Amino acid sequence: MSHEFPVPVPDDAAGFISEPDRPTGALATLARIIGEHGADRVALVTSFGAESVVLLHLVSRIDRALPVLFVDTEMLFAETLAYQTDVADRLGLRDVRRIRPDAATLATRDTDGTLHRSDHDACCALRKTAPLDAALIGFDAWLTGRKRIQGGARADLPECEIDAAGRLKVNPLALWTKSDTRDYMDRYDLPRHPLVSKGYPSIGCAPCTTPVAAGEDERAGRWRGSAKTECGIHIDTDGRIHRRTREQAA
Ligand code: SF4
Repeated sequence: MSHEFPVPVPDDAAGFISEPDRPTGALATLARIIGEHGADRVALVTSFGAESVVLLHLVSRIDRALPVLFVDTEMLFAETLAYQTDVADRLGLRDVRRIRPDAATLATRDTDGTLHRSDHDACCALRKTAPLDAALIGFDAWLTGRKRIQGGARADLPECEIDAAGRLKVNPLALWTKSDTRDYMDRYDLPRHPLVSKGYPSIGCAPCTTPVAAGEDERAGRWRGSAKTECGIHIDTDGRIHRRTREQAA
């Protein structure tokens, strides 16, 4: 699918590095993307996990009405649901859309809610990927809070990339460090997800997330004991992560 780029988009994070500090750089990127595409054509995608509040706060400084797609698999921790409401209220987010799996599909494919025990990929596909794919129709661009320091397939994450549908996918926090994130949360006194203090530095669905021991990778508690490291939202249809530049996507 061909994709037109109305704004100059860097193929890597070089422009980001040149900014005087990470929050300033992220704000500049967000302002440019939202300004050029329009606030109704850009969506922030989040699960209201451990550090989601940072990107949500940055966006709220630009436009509180920007659509926020909250991917609710109906398998999230009760703490996450309470945190989502608290964060949305405190930041004044005006367009949080709860993206849920299709009820009819669940009724045929995961009748008792145990598909995750036998097939993680199938469960993520019907509870996360398919609902989000549908929700993103009509948007030109989406924002994620992923960072290189999260490791694995994210280690070489660019600031901007192209998804399988040809949409612009923007990762304004790609180069943020742990101290960048902590300092930003402290500076703006942002609420912490209640599970972080209980040993969960990365938080997804309750059945597939465990606490992490000291010294472990922060995503080690996700799908522990399996080779799976990504839910599928950030993986192409062939099961791999592809990074496309503007030229390759055109
Ligand atoms: S993380 Fe686990 S429960 Fe959540 S959608 Fe994926 S397999 Fe299902």
